[in-house]
Amino acid sequence: MKNCDLNSRLVYSTEQGVICPECSWALDNCICQKIKKAIIPVTDGVVRLRYETKGRKGKGMTIITGLALNEDEFLELAKKLKQRFGAGGAVKDFTIQLQGDFCQQAAQELNKLGYNVK
Ligand SMILES: [Zn+2]
Repeated sequence: MKNCDLNSRLVYSTEQGVICPECSWALDNCICQKIKKAIIPVTDGVVRLRYETKGRKGKGMTIITGLALNEDEFLELAKKLKQRFGAGGAVKDFTIQLQGDFCQQAAQELNKLGYNVK
């Protein structure tokens, strides 16, 4: 189970245990984490891929944007793509970032999965 941002100051209550500083609920019932997980970004329905090398010391990354997914779905899709290409990667700010240039392959893969890829 994922907890709230543990960098924030946590409050301990003898009745409820550790309290989330954001929503004031016990961490087990923390609603902000649930809300965060449920957020789906508004997109125009078109998935875009770009290869970015800027500021990465020559190490490029494939950035996939425009996916209308919630956090779990993002992680699931990122995992699928990483396994498919044997690449490292991460989910960040509603984008999937893959280490290396996988624009072509990822576009094909997403097409197969039914995404509208530009
Ligand atoms: Zn919370």
